Amino acid sequence: MHRITVIGGGLAGLTAAISAAEAGAKVTVYEAHHTLGGRARTAEGPYRTNDGPHALYKAGPHWSWLQQRDLIGPLAPLPPLEAARLRLRHKGALRRTPPFAMLKLLRRSAQQAPVDVDFLSWATGQAGEEGARAAAHYSAVALFHHDPGALSAAFVQERLRRATKLPPEAHYPRGGWATVVDRMAARAWNLGVRMETLSRVDTLPTDTPVVVATSLDAARRLLGDDSLTWPSGRTTLLDLALRTRRGDAFAVSDLDSPGWIERFTAQDRTLAPAGEQLLQGQIPIAPHETRADGVTRAEQLLDLAFDGWRERVTWRRESVANGRTGAVDLPGTNWRDRPAVDRGDGVYLAGDQVAAPGVLSEVSFTSALTAVSLALGRNALDLKHA
Ligand SMILES: Cc1cc2nc3c(=O)[nH]c(=O)nc-3n(C[C@H](O)[C@H](O)[C@H](O)COP(=O)(O)OP(=O)(O)OC[C@H]3O[C@@H](n4cnc5c(N)ncnc54)[C@H](O)[C@@H]3O)c2cc1C
Repeated sequence: MHRITVIGGGLAGLTAAISAAEAGAKVTVYEAHHTLGGRARTAEGPYRTNDGPHALYKAGPHWSWLQQRDLIGPLAPLPPLEAARLRLRHKGALRRTPPFAMLKLLRRSAQQAPVDVDFLSWATGQAGEEGARAAAHYSAVALFHHDPGALSAAFVQERLRRATKLPPEAHYPRGGWATVVDRMAARAWNLGVRMETLSRVDTLPTDTPVVVATSLDAARRLLGDDSLTWPSGRTTLLDLALRTRRGDAFAVSDLDSPGWIERFTAQDRTLAPAGEQLLQGQIPIAPHETRADGVTRAEQLLDLAFDGWRERVTWRRESVANGRTGAVDLPGTNWRDRPAVDRGDGVYLAGDQVAAPGVLSEVSFTSALTAVSLALGRNALDLKHA
């Protein structure tokens, strides 16, 4: 029987553990934190904020894998009335529909964007600068970068398409992602996976193949390999609970600069106490900007879209997600150029900044399956993309 060690118990680590155990391996997972889930943890207590993911994109590779194993659980659908309350800030004013020029870039028939040109240059050629900037800023909801227009056109276009598809791809596990993590952990447990929490690994084991399913930063330190870097985003997160007021927007996208505010209780009432709404502002910030700059921009959006929000605040939290929002690809690069999964000597990387396709956590999922397939030394998992 194969033995595999998995370091890190987030989505990537749990995916690796389950798939390896299903293929017959004896698996041990070491997780530094006292709970599993990594960035997919949901806060305990009255305000169930997510550290990282909120949305599971239905066309992603993880969807059918999770569904086949009954791991998704109940979803919180967005009521149609709430869905209609998406607002866009454009030229300082709120509107309900995207500017016409931006729509040109969302057409199904739009040309496939090139890898080696930045999105703003390419999209300006397609739809003019105003539409290109608006589209770039909208795409921030799925890439969390302060300057999406400077990234590879192909990379941004894929995220723009996924984030604007109708009917929407984004689905929300009821109760937050912790519920999916709990189901994955139970599945791993039932398959006989040994899971050690509060177990930070400082030295790589040499007696089994190892899947390093940590962030890329942690993998770089663990492997002592300075080449393990790839760009990511830096985003101010402003979590707020507000007393309920009828007519609040469901979400606001900033088309004037990258930024998104979403009222998560619109689809899932279980995330905050009765009579209160849970919101999160996600405002990407440049390297020279501070958390406070992001908070100021979030508050400007709130002033525009959430009447009297300052008087309605019952709870508030500010933080910065730095390098925690997955890979972004610069012009001339795509996912194949990121740090390879196979590091040699039986060491494999899984995570959202390594060489695997997908959007956000889908990269963690896909790389985890690739890592396990390579570690088992046979085509055990039948991967199409590897
Ligand atoms: C603000 C924000 C919003 C997001 N929104 C979405 C979204 O809507 N949809 C989506 O799909 N994705 C989203 N993401 C991305 C998603 O959160 C991540 O891609 C995903 O959670 C990464 O999972 P992972 O297992 O690769 O890494 P992590 O979740 O970081 O897991 C790594 C684990 O390894 C552990 N670890 C680290 N070092 C060691 C060590 N030495 N020994 C043992 N354990 C160790 C850590 O404690 C951690 O638990 C978002 C992220 C952020 C920050």
